[in-house]
Amino acid sequence: MVTPGPALSSTSLRLAALLAAAVLLGSCNDDGGATTALATPGTASPAASAPASTPPTPDGALAPAPPAEPDVDLAMAHIQHLAVAIGPRAAGTAEERAAAEYLGGVLRDAGYEVTLEEFPFEDNFDQSSITLSGGSLEALALRGGADAVATGRLVFAGIGDAAGLAGVTLGGRIVVFDRGVLPFADKVRAAEAGGALAVIVVNNEGGAFRGTLGEAESPLPVVGVAGEHRAVLLAALDQQVTVTANAGAKPGVSQNVVATADGDCEAYLGAHYDSVPQGPGANDNASGVAVVLEVARARIAPGLCVVMFGAEELGLWGSRAYVEQHALDAAQFLLNVDMAGLIDDPIIVGDRGLTSEILAHYQAAGLNSPLQAGMFPPFSSSDHVSFTAVGIAAVTFNSGDDPAIHTPQDTFERIDRESLRVMMVGVDAALTGLLNATAR
Ligand SMILES: [Zn+2]
Repeated sequence: MVTPGPALSSTSLRLAALLAAAVLLGSCNDDGGATTALATPGTASPAASAPASTPPTPDGALAPAPPAEPDVDLAMAHIQHLAVAIGPRAAGTAEERAAAEYLGGVLRDAGYEVTLEEFPFEDNFDQSSITLSGGSLEALALRGGADAVATGRLVFAGIGDAAGLAGVTLGGRIVVFDRGVLPFADKVRAAEAGGALAVIVVNNEGGAFRGTLGEAESPLPVVGVAGEHRAVLLAALDQQVTVTANAGAKPGVSQNVVATADGDCEAYLGAHYDSVPQGPGANDNASGVAVVLEVARARIAPGLCVVMFGAEELGLWGSRAYVEQHALDAAQFLLNVDMAGLIDDPIIVGDRGLTSEILAHYQAAGLNSPLQAGMFPPFSSSDHVSFTAVGIAAVTFNSGDDPAIHTPQDTFERIDRESLRVMMVGVDAALTGLLNATAR
């Protein structure tokens, strides 16, 4: 579903506030000012002669000139606004919406046509647990089991085959099975047949697991626990425990901020602006948003589009919605930025060909950037994946590992201005090089 954005507040007020914030930031820095000389990649900025060539607006006044270069102090001010003034921006919240409107305003002021495009998402949760006399264990509900709570004495029945079940009283008890050999549904059926109240399946290796009963459904709560908990459970046999299976999906609505310069989208800049609920998301990913905003403001050009994605942290919902809602026939590439505020082994992740092209542009421009081709750790991902999935060359710029992301410690104070500047120069040089290479 596509909805037009709401009316946004006054241009001049917002820019004035931002500039004031940037000056304040600048004056706190050791270099004593808000000077923002960026290492310019080889090509001249198309905006360099902006004041003279800026077309008059319909009422005859000159539109504000785009900045000649991305501004690192304004980028710091954007991060401060998102992570401090707004704070945590969890998908579907009023704070996420406020962030979207702020980004829309900045991009509109820069000359883009901006739309807030809403999309539905689901927030999968699992708050299942096992409560013992000494404390509680985290558990994950098996799909097909009941969302329910049961209390009873604990018994152990092996893997749930005849040998395991032999001589075990299941009636009115909570049964512990080892995972393996038999399908989950068979173990649960045996527990039901014996009159058990709930089922716990212990993983046959370290860590938790997500399981399903397949086609089967059970009236019993059925949970799985990490293999590490086996000893604790076996030590609690015959004691009273409570099993809670509580999992599901909460629906919500988020929005992408979509900004188009002129014509079909050939080149994309992207970044997600939502955060996890428990942290202000300064590095992840107000920093990436700030880099994209400032590069987008300086490099506005026909065919350039900017998408700020919502609900990324819950599973790339925004980027998946965007590629579903739009024909991307003209799209040539996406440069996505996810974490740009603390350099530690900075990488470009995603399409190998596009990455090589970017690194070649750095070389041609004489830019000595620390950015290298790299990969995310297992189970980590970002919005470029949604674009590569539909055949568009896409990469994510990432400043490297940061143990504070997804915690309350991911704060504005930790953002390193020099890291941000280096990442901004890298993204800017990549965009400039690629745009020049594909110039019509
Ligand atoms: Zn992120």
